[in-house]
Amino acid sequence: MALIVLKFGGSSVKDREHIFNAARIIGRWRNEGNDVVTVVSAQGDTTDDLIEKAGEITHDPSKREMDMLLSTGEQISAALLAMALETLGCPAISLTGRQAGFQTDRTYMSARIRMLDTERIESELSRNRVVVVTGFQGVNQYDDITTLGRGGSDTSAVAIAAALHAERCCIYTDVDGVYTADPRLVPNARRLDEITFDEMLELATLGAQVLNSRSVELAKKYSVCLEVRSSLTDKPGTIVKEVTDVEGMLIKGVTKDKNVAVINVLEVPDVPGASFKIFSLMAQKNINVDVILQSSGKPDCKDVIFTVPEPDADTAVSVLTEYLPRFGGRSVSVDKNVAKVSVVGAGMQSHSGIASRMFEALYESNINIRMISTSEIKISVLIAESEADRAVQALHDAFLS
Ligand code: ASP
Ligand code: MG
Repeated sequence: MALIVLKFGGSSVKDREHIFNAARIIGRWRNEGNDVVTVVSAQGDTTDDLIEKAGEITHDPSKREMDMLLSTGEQISAALLAMALETLGCPAISLTGRQAGFQTDRTYMSARIRMLDTERIESELSRNRVVVVTGFQGVNQYDDITTLGRGGSDTSAVAIAAALHAERCCIYTDVDGVYTADPRLVPNARRLDEITFDEMLELATLGAQVLNSRSVELAKKYSVCLEVRSSLTDKPGTIVKEVTDVEGMLIKGVTKDKNVAVINVLEVPDVPGASFKIFSLMAQKNINVDVILQSSGKPDCKDVIFTVPEPDADTAVSVLTEYLPRFGGRSVSVDKNVAKVSVVGAGMQSHSGIASRMFEALYESNINIRMISTSEIKISVLIAESEADRAVQALHDAFLS
């Protein structure tokens, strides 16, 4: 008998009808002779609604209390799904993150899983029950509830699949797989049959919203076979795994991320340690720096220009401004009207000319590139935010049509 982990996203359990639909999917896997552990997200927009409720009370809620609040969303869907399964004659039990054995570090609202003690899950499975686990949550060393950060239920599901050596982890959502671009934006985007962990990780980090990037990291680390598929059709979805057909597509996807801001620190003295001072400030504030550009403008001076997530931009500017006299720069400024557009594909490791084709397509659309960054399997450009959608379509046409 194989063990399967099924995760249902918020849209797949948003109301009574969807909950029963999920229960029937679980029932089918069971009837095929599998043991099933299910992980659920909060129903529909519940998590957003809970955040809004907190905002009605205070603008600066404690993170501990936020986790206490946000974790309730998943408890609702887990209990309801277990009830639906029982109604359909399928023995089931719901478990909170704590009951399911999720121990995390102490970081409220973006905790990392430290350990997963699967004893309770396994004992429930041995009693022939479907186990329904609340995604997104665990407890820290103080026995306080923590959450794993937005979209964290994917990670909960992969962690269970890894710990129990599940045959597969199916992520049920409202799209039928991973697409070459956001289909709402690019009408001729195509569904991929398979994609590698590395490609998926780049896509997830670069703005494709289908899978949480930490879950992909974890799946890669423990070789968990992932499938992204729709809860509304019976069709197989996209398989995410270590290697895919090497002769396949060169480029797997085009993404955009509008959630970036460019920070300009101008006329910093051109001496050893200047960059260190700037970026250690960012590190102290836990700000992730992405693309970095250092250019020499005037003699003995350099400009240090880099990108940060947009929500961190104001903090970055204020701390840099405060310490500007210490590292001797002239000015700090920010531009939030930028977007990062990227093409991703493992095929670019063994093929040349991808960059030039990318820049040509942008040139033909008259889109100006402000910054460029690359990894082995992706090329990203920073452009004006207002041109991001056009850029995605142009790049999709160039590589994927
Ligand atoms: N409910 C949480 C969120 O919306 C976790 C999840 O859905 O994965 O972020
Ligand atoms: Mg999600």
